[in-house]
Formats: sequence, C-alpha cells, structure tokens
Amino acid sequence: MTAVYEELGGASHERVVRCSDDAAGLRAIIAVHSTVLGPALGGTRFRRYRSDDDALDDVLRLAAGMTSKAAVAGLDLGGGKAVILGDPAVDRTDELIRAYGRAVDHLAGTYLTAEDVGTTQADMDLVRTVTRHVTGVSESLGGSGDPSPATALGVRCAMSAVAADLWGDSSLEGRRIVVSGVGKVGSALVGHLVSAGAVVSVADIDPAAAGRMAARHGVEVVGVADAHRTPCDILSPCALGGAFNAQTIPELACAAVVGSANNQLAEPDDASRLADAGVLYAPDYVVNAGGVINIAEERHRDGYDRERAHRAIARVEATTATVLATARAEGITTTAAADRVAEERLDAARKTPHHHD
Ligand code: NAD
Repeated sequence: MTAVYEELGGASHERVVRCSDDAAGLRAIIAVHSTVLGPALGGTRFRRYRSDDDALDDVLRLAAGMTSKAAVAGLDLGGGKAVILGDPAVDRTDELIRAYGRAVDHLAGTYLTAEDVGTTQADMDLVRTVTRHVTGVSESLGGSGDPSPATALGVRCAMSAVAADLWGDSSLEGRRIVVSGVGKVGSALVGHLVSAGAVVSVADIDPAAAGRMAARHGVEVVGVADAHRTPCDILSPCALGGAFNAQTIPELACAAVVGSANNQLAEPDDASRLADAGVLYAPDYVVNAGGVINIAEERHRDGYDRERAHRAIARVEATTATVLATARAEGITTTAAADRVAEERLDAARKTPHHHD
C-alpha cells in the first residue's frame, strides 16, 4: 500500500487530511468540520481545481456548510466533505475509487461519505467494498438510493411553511409557482406541485427536459432568461447555484424563493438585497435538506425504511417555519436566522454529553 495521509489541520475544522496514493493515481482532501452532533457527513466532489489551495478552500467551505445543514435539519450528524482532485471523465478508475474508500476508512467513522458532483452511486457502491463509512449506496446494498425524490419532497414541505408564513394557509392550491431547472429534483417537485393544485411553469436550458414536463403534467414552459422575472407566488430555483445577484434580484416578480439549488446567493449581501426587494427567501440549505435527512435514515438501527424517511423529511416544513419566525422576531435576514438556529443547536450539544454512538 502506497497511501500517504498527511494531517493538515485547520483553524475551525476538527481534522483535515490530505490523501495520496500514487499507485492508484489518487489525490484527495477530506475535511471534518464538526462532529459535535455526530459523525461528519458530506459528499465526495470529484473535479479539477485550478490549484491545491482552491481545492482546500472549497472542501473547508463545503464541510462547514454541511455542519449547519445537518444541525438545522435536526440530525445527529456533523459536517464534513471530501474532494478528489482531477477530471472524473479522464482520471476515474476503479482502483482510484477503492483507494479513496481506504482513505475514508482511515478516518475510522468520524467522516461518512456520500455522492456529490462528479461521483456516482456506482462509485459509492465501490467505496462500500472497502469501508462501511459510506451512505447513499444502492438499494440492493441496503442504501436509500437516489436522494433527489427526497430532496424534492423536502422542497415541497418548505413551500408549505412559506405559504403559511406569507398567506396564512399552507395549501399550495392555485399558487403560481415557477420551477427553474427540471432535472432530478425539479422534475419530481413539479409532480408534487401539480398534485397540490398549484399552477406551475417550468424553465430549463435543456428543451427536452422542459418538454417532458409539459407533456407529462400539461405545465407551461417559459424561457430560461425569463424564469426569474415571471410574475408568480413562488420562484423555485432547482438548477445551478448563484442565480441571485445584484442584477437579477431587482428583476424578480415573485413573493418568495424556495428551491433546491445549492448556494443560490452569489454573495452574502444578496440576502439583504432579497429582503429589501420584498422577497421572502427560504435559505437553500434549510430547504434542500431532504436528501441528507433521507441518507441519515440509512443509519437507523432497523435499517432504511422509506415511509419513516418520508416522515422525517416532512420536518423540513417545521424547520423552515422556525427559521422564518426567528428572522422576523430578531429582525435579521433568513440566512442569518438559519445560521443562528444551527449555532444554537451546536451550542446546546457542546454543553451536554454525546448521547449517540
Ligand atoms: P440535475 O443536473 O439533475 O438537474 C439540473 C437541471 O437544471 C437540468 O435539467 C439542467 O438542464 C437545468 N439547468 C442548468 N442550468 C440551467 C439554467 N441556467 N436555467 C434553467 N435550467 C438549468 O441536478 P439535480 O440533482 O436536480 O439538482 C438540482 C440542484 O439542487 C443543484 O443545485 C443541486 O446541487 C441541488 N441539490 C440537489 C440534491 C439532490 O438530492 N439531487 C440535494 C441537495 C441540493
């Protein structure tokens, strides 16, 4: 075995390990931000970075984000993340993925990995052959499968909380909702919204994806450039991040933003820009927690159960309501409120001994 594990340390992270295995062509960094609430869960991102410093910045930032996400979602899990440096289309081999799995195993369960951008469920199945500290493996291996339907369900629940907050009624009946990006999450979300009686429009850079929604659900298709300025009750960004910035926010014609996309705000100031524009922003990491809640259910002592998982995901409605209420009570942005709810839970846990394994 030629693996080398180098402890990098990190100011606000519990542990940062650089992993290399020359024989397998592996270069990776695993960051454990916090295990205060439980083992640090976070996906494996496989991509090329401009520099090693860029990779390190990304993994540290993403790991810290996972701590907040799990804490707000009420999970007994901490936050972590891993990056594999390289182009998955060029550099991925089974040997590399197995070497990565051994690196995960080296952290002895303080880090639990999962799929992320650039890795697949098949990769996690392969990781499972060398370590048990992996989630989101295939259903045939006792996993919970693709998290996207769970994420979509959570987004739908968050919308109920927003509707109750804005209009005093959690029903989405007759509400105009624009879903921008109808891939794995967005397409499942459209199904829920149509069932709930909402009036849905969709947009996608892939005309075939939008066309499928029109054919299946009879929903209207709007242009990608027009999606964010289409008058509606709720705009649901379910494509890539960074949709909201100083240019797009003044053009919004919605009452609320509730979507699955990660990192929807181009910069932190956009949270107050949205508030100033009179748009209620349900923070992305609160809204899109359904996937991670679902994955956490794999760790249940009785094994994964889809119905129990769905009940757990429904908690996203109450969590979103708490965050919105905190923002209003404290006179702060909803993103600041989400961070505060997370921090309070972490503080409480630091003061009491661990009760989990
Ligand atoms: P996906 O790749 O299956 O779907 C994304 C869709 O957005 C595609 O159909 C793509 O054509 C479309 N798209 C890309 N750019 C667009 C644009 N500018 N305007 C409109 N449409 C555009 O991805 P997904 O798994 O559905 O994830 C969607 C978002 O939700 C991502 O930001 C992801 O990080 C986030 N998220 C996903 C999950 C999950 O469980 N899959 C969990 C948490 C967060």
